Amino acid sequence: MAKSVGDGRERPVTEELEPSAADELPLSGEPLPLDLVNTTYIRGGVRGRLVDAFAAGPQAVDVWLAARRGRFSPVLADRLSEAGPIDPARYREFLELRGALRSLAAARTSGEDPETGPLAVVNARARSAAHWPELVAGSGFRSVVRTAADDVGGAALGEIAAAAVDLFTGPAADRLRACPAPGCILYFVRTHARREWCTVGCGNRVRVARHSRRARAGGAAGEA
Ligand SMILES: [Zn+2]
Repeated sequence: MAKSVGDGRERPVTEELEPSAADELPLSGEPLPLDLVNTTYIRGGVRGRLVDAFAAGPQAVDVWLAARRGRFSPVLADRLSEAGPIDPARYREFLELRGALRSLAAARTSGEDPETGPLAVVNARARSAAHWPELVAGSGFRSVVRTAADDVGGAALGEIAAAAVDLFTGPAADRLRACPAPGCILYFVRTHARREWCTVGCGNRVRVARHSRRARAGGAAGEA
């Protein structure tokens, strides 16, 4: 039973999607690339349903971005505070990057090599993370920061992708974990040695399941 849900980790997340508000996410505060991956999750454990916090459309991504503004570079954080909504094309690119990052996180945590498709998606987006200072023409000396992406959504995709490259290859990569709880598809960086599950909720669910298995086994032995 748990196996079939575990398999869902690698499956493209497309079916049985339920909308959910971005503030109902079971886990946030992981590095940005994982926070993006974790916007799809299973509500209700092993027999639960797949939920997509972005199912409501582009505005759900706007809400998600606004809540994480301070975690982007200062120049992008400023632009995010006055950004308009992302357009449907950018929205699809967020979903595409999210799928690519889920695939790479699965590969990274199971010791496999990155697949070429997801790798190409991340690399293409990472290029739009580029920004540089330029001098402003006119009187006096002033500088302005230019970005490779001309819109906020594109720049955000770029920074998330570039952060993913660092995450999958940097010092935190070996602490990257797929939550081992049955019926969970979330990823996290193990911040301390005793952190075994993505959330307290998953830890409790596993403990309750163990306890009832033991109770059943004990009951069966008593009856025998
Ligand atoms: Zn979990």
